[in-house]
Amino acid sequence: MSLRFEFTDDLGPEKVLELYDPATGLQAILVVDNVAAGPAIGGVRMATDVTAAECFRLARAMTLKNAMAGLAHGGGKSVIAADPGMPAADRSRLIKSFARAIADVRDYIPGPDMGTDEQAMAEVKYQIGRAVGLPREVGGIPLDEIGATGYGLAVALEAAEPFCDLPGSNMRVVVQGFGSVGQHVIRFLAERGARLVGVSDSHGARVCPEGFDLESLLAAKTGGTSVAGFDQGEAIDPEALIGVDCDVWIPAARPDVIREDNAGRVRAKVVAQGANIPATPAAEEILAGNGVLVLPDFVANAGGVICGAVEFHGGSQSQALESIAEKIRANVTEVLRRAVEDGALPRAAAMQIARDRVRKAMSFR
Ligand code: NAD
Repeated sequence: MSLRFEFTDDLGPEKVLELYDPATGLQAILVVDNVAAGPAIGGVRMATDVTAAECFRLARAMTLKNAMAGLAHGGGKSVIAADPGMPAADRSRLIKSFARAIADVRDYIPGPDMGTDEQAMAEVKYQIGRAVGLPREVGGIPLDEIGATGYGLAVALEAAEPFCDLPGSNMRVVVQGFGSVGQHVIRFLAERGARLVGVSDSHGARVCPEGFDLESLLAAKTGGTSVAGFDQGEAIDPEALIGVDCDVWIPAARPDVIREDNAGRVRAKVVAQGANIPATPAAEEILAGNGVLVLPDFVANAGGVICGAVEFHGGSQSQALESIAEKIRANVTEVLRRAVEDGALPRAAAMQIARDRVRKAMSFR
């Protein structure tokens, strides 16, 4: 007899746990996808609409991302079905309940994700002795505060320059989603002369062909103003942001924002994927057909998890930034070179490299 599960293949998952605690209302799923390279690192997502399927997909994405980044870690993910906007004391109680439920799953190291943060990871660490993405006060490297993922994306774009026709300095950039990843990536790119010509958050979108005054925009956003309420440039329909003329278009918000129905409207030379799974496979085919180079999510946005791994192994902030630059530069170059050689999409080339690395790690066991 053989049991067949919908999401299993030759890589995993190794473990799937459903976690319930009637005393705290905890309802969660943990997927430990693959631990051949070492204990899995992956975020804890809290949202009301999380699903098991999402957890399986994200856990696999972490296996590939961590393998691609050459970390001594496999991939996993957990989701908690709850509203992250609940009162802080209730949220803290739920997080601690989750932590106790995974205490014995020692090959999973939780990190922050949508709906959880550094404080939550400090609470998890206090309960079970392991977590990444911790506050400075408990020895962490606050990856969102320093912009680890945005920094890595900027490095990815620099590494992609020999493979596309980017102007170097004076690059025109559009950022969809002006949160941690979106704000930091444009900050790092602006240091090299880039200008932000289009931007959005969950409240609206604006364009400014001559380039926004970035310092004022960042200050306004930090002060609680949405980009929609900023007093420079022109407000546009958020759906129109995808067609704004630019050199680089950076999704840094939700999944599946570039789809078959809108991919043809992209007027950029490069799409650098800050968000996880921001484009559908069909959309990536269309982009390639139109000569738009895609830097795949699990290659280009690995800065956060690389930072978390350096933190876990006791490294410093400067070591984390150095590791991010070294790994992402090498991986983007390898992926794009392989894509050109094989006439394949960058994602297909990256998948092959990452899967080969996981299989090799499995062969040592
Ligand atoms: P965040 O919550 O700090 O920021 C998200 C931003 O997106 C906010 O400004 C929000 O207003 C905006 N937004 C939400 N819905 C939107 C919509 N429909 N249109 C336009 N803007 C919208 O999150 P983050 O940490 O910056 O993460 C963004 C994405 O990057 C997520 O997909 C996340 O999984 C991915 N990611 C983050 C990291 C990291 O280190 N933070 C690492 C890898 C991948």
